[in-house]
Amino acid sequence: MKFGMTFAEYLQHGEQEGFLNNCSHVEYKRLKKVLKSCRICRAESHGEGEDDSGGGGGEGASELCQCESKAAQCPACDQLFFAEIAKEASEISGCFSSRARQLRHLHLPSGLQRYMRHVRCCFVDDQNTLVQEGRMLIDYITMNAIAMRKILKKYDKIHSSVNGRNFKTTLRAKHIELLQSPWLTELGAFCINSNNSDIGKSGEFIQQFSCDFSGAEPLMTLTLSNSVNLEYSLTCAVCLDTLFNPYALGCGHLFCKGCACSSASVFLFEGPKAAPKGAKCPVCRAVGVYANSVHLAELDLLLKNSCRDYWKERMQSERMEMVKQSKIYWESQTKFAIGYGH
Ligand SMILES: [Zn+2]
Ligand SMILES: [Zn+2]
Ligand SMILES: [Zn+2]
Ligand SMILES: [Zn+2]
Repeated sequence: MKFGMTFAEYLQHGEQEGFLNNCSHVEYKRLKKVLKSCRICRAESHGEGEDDSGGGGGEGASELCQCESKAAQCPACDQLFFAEIAKEASEISGCFSSRARQLRHLHLPSGLQRYMRHVRCCFVDDQNTLVQEGRMLIDYITMNAIAMRKILKKYDKIHSSVNGRNFKTTLRAKHIELLQSPWLTELGAFCINSNNSDIGKSGEFIQQFSCDFSGAEPLMTLTLSNSVNLEYSLTCAVCLDTLFNPYALGCGHLFCKGCACSSASVFLFEGPKAAPKGAKCPVCRAVGVYANSVHLAELDLLLKNSCRDYWKERMQSERMEMVKQSKIYWESQTKFAIGYGH
């Protein structure tokens, strides 16, 4: 089945279940129509007979469109095309992270909420509903990411450009590259954590998460329905070891809480959010990414369950570090109070 049809079916399915209400998605059909008008315009102005089969071999290669090879811009669509895709990506990623955050809030409730839930005695049913919703969210982000990739590829093909491919860099810089959202990792961990609960198939768009801690590098893998594998490293770029008590910075990079804190020169007990405004991500050097950092609690649970001994060891050393830092902190406070430097 062509992806356009699969995507249309997906959207319809999601709307029926009310899942896609208030959620943006890639306007695949509309963008494709725009590209089609480009193709027709190109065919007319360059006299290369319309070729809709799309399979084209080397046709037109010798006679590249002048306007595009020079300015790398298409007058028919460029003003709006990339701006629109960027807007869609930003809306989709916003919708995805807010719903994933909500879902996790329900799954990892605070003590009181957990108690109330327990009283209501409906935890098992709730659990299945949550897993179902988690899967729908994963489908949501991956289907839209595939749609976006396809449309950008189509753009490049029609305009014989690399703008579509390069656009990924723009999305990454704006931290809205859909499949790089830390919330996707968190949802993946959530699905693996709840794997023992039995759930039915949710449509035919099954995207599967798995993790592997046996290799040289701990990995989480997302297998898309078109059997493409995406790998997410679970190594901290600071200590170069498996993540412990992981936090995602606003740019999407993951670090151990302790490593994030020490990179930003704040105490562990203050947390990454206490970082000064100018603190940079140790990987991408982005500024202002500590303020909206998130604790990946599901991923932490997954790591705890998967590498128990390692996790315990790290837990112990984090506690010791915490004590040491508190001591330093209080000593500095006391010195200040009794007025050193008279
Ligand atoms: Zn042209
Ligand atoms: Zn165009
Ligand atoms: Zn680390
Ligand atoms: Zn970063």
